[in-house]
Amino acid sequence: MAIIITDECINCGACEPECPNTAIYEGADDWRYKDGTSLNGTIVLPNGKEVDADEAQEPISDELYYIVPDKCTECVGFHEEPQCAAVCPVDCCVPDEDHVETEEALLGKQRFMHPDD
Ligand code: SF4
Ligand code: SF4
Repeated sequence: MAIIITDECINCGACEPECPNTAIYEGADDWRYKDGTSLNGTIVLPNGKEVDADEAQEPISDELYYIVPDKCTECVGFHEEPQCAAVCPVDCCVPDEDHVETEEALLGKQRFMHPDD
């Protein structure tokens, strides 16, 4: 399961630097698979999707900080609990019921993005 930022977000920015996968971006900013990971060039994601890790992707939100589901591991592989949720002052980082994954799948994503850690 990925974490999602709800529309309660006050755009304080506290969560962004805490994410070990660089899965959090400011509203209206482009995102990339390669940001904060070991990924580059053409890659096949654990879910089978082929993507260009260097390519700028469309923002998921234009107004609020957002989390990229493909990059969020709920902090599995790095921390005991989601770091964004731990620092968010308004508790708006919550489980995303549309992106449910097993612990194994989350760890697989983490290893895929950071094979050398
Ligand atoms: S749960 Fe962890 S990996 Fe996911 S967005 Fe929050 S800080 Fe990043
Ligand atoms: S810490 Fe919470 S309120 Fe602040 S930007 Fe992140 S999600 Fe929004």
